[in-house]
Amino acid sequence: MSVQLGMPRPRIGVGSPVPLRRPPGLPAGLLDRFGRRATDMRLSLTDKCNLRCTYCMPAEGLQWLTKQAVMTADEIVRIVGLGVDRLGVRELRLTGGEPLVRADLVDIIGSLRQQHPDLPISMTTNAVGLDGKAKQLKQAGLTRINVSLDSLHEETFAKLTRRPFLDRVLAGVEAADAAGLGPIKINAVLMRGINDAESPGLLAWALERGYELRFIEQMPLDADHGWTRREMITASEIREMLAEYFVLRPDPRERSGAPAERFQVQHRSPATGEPVGAVLGTVGIIASVTEPFCADCRRTRITADGKIMSCLFSREEFDLLGLLRSGADDDELSRRWQEAMWAKPKAHGMDHTGLEADDFVQPDRSMSAIGG
Ligand code: SAM
Ligand code: SF4
Repeated sequence: MSVQLGMPRPRIGVGSPVPLRRPPGLPAGLLDRFGRRATDMRLSLTDKCNLRCTYCMPAEGLQWLTKQAVMTADEIVRIVGLGVDRLGVRELRLTGGEPLVRADLVDIIGSLRQQHPDLPISMTTNAVGLDGKAKQLKQAGLTRINVSLDSLHEETFAKLTRRPFLDRVLAGVEAADAAGLGPIKINAVLMRGINDAESPGLLAWALERGYELRFIEQMPLDADHGWTRREMITASEIREMLAEYFVLRPDPRERSGAPAERFQVQHRSPATGEPVGAVLGTVGIIASVTEPFCADCRRTRITADGKIMSCLFSREEFDLLGLLRSGADDDELSRRWQEAMWAKPKAHGMDHTGLEADDFVQPDRSMSAIGG
């Protein structure tokens, strides 16, 4: 069995191909060389998961981080504190792997909320097991959730996630809604020939319940390295599939660094093709591959083993946790984080227009090991 992703990689330090140093005298905050400022922190709580989505994890063989390598609750609280109190972080998203598999999740959220009463804290989850935890999470101080759900058909769901847990996910979404963890966003990745035909049905389901559905273009972050540009469903295809049943108009609200391009949705009259009735809600499309938004990216990422990744597609990581464990003080940790973000690449380089030659190099970590 070959060792899969999520494991130790060649890393920074001596010989790093990022020679640029952050000049002294710049304003505080997580600035980069291209004038962007990271204010949105994505922090992964674990690399483990109870599903095995084909576009993310392999069926088996992923090498997990050791318990020792993963940030403790106290380390998470310290790192978030640095980000918020010293470096201008204004919102936090907890992710993974699957955050719900972490036994101390409620305590982590409670501690974060105690330290940061006004910080928006959201969580991306597959919702398996959320029905039993939603109330506690809300009480602990979680602001809202995003749930990943790619299919409403049991068989398709099981094929995509390699687990028969659709009922549990639906129960989790309902419980979250009842607990007040809204507005709920639903994330869906479309796979050609598997769930792409379901896109209008997923949207109708979400609109009926008042959830905001966001379609995410599949990115080359799967542990199986099965992604191909030819096979991926593009944003323009998604808009076309939805347009058969719905009229989409650009949402006039400011995008403000959000990855999703939002559209207001109305029914389309089959007879005239014109919009009918009121606006039903909105749908988002996250076109990371074909219409990237790197120029306005505001994210800084911390993996479950405390590495800073300035971009999902970074091949460079900065070991913040190692430095913290070596006894570094807050000044040194902040400086390190700022240096890491200063080196953020201008763009991820996936947005080829051609379908053939492809010099894009997939990162070592799969999505579950980065924290999406
Ligand atoms: N387990 C949680 C979940 O699935 O919501 C949180 C972690 S998951 C890595 C975060 C998000 O990344 C999910 O919405 C998932 O659909 C998305 N994702 C995973 N692999 C992806 C890929 N190759 N391309 C695009 N999105 C992906
Ligand atoms: Fe797990 Fe989320 Fe990856 Fe699916 S997308 S395998 S639920 S981490």
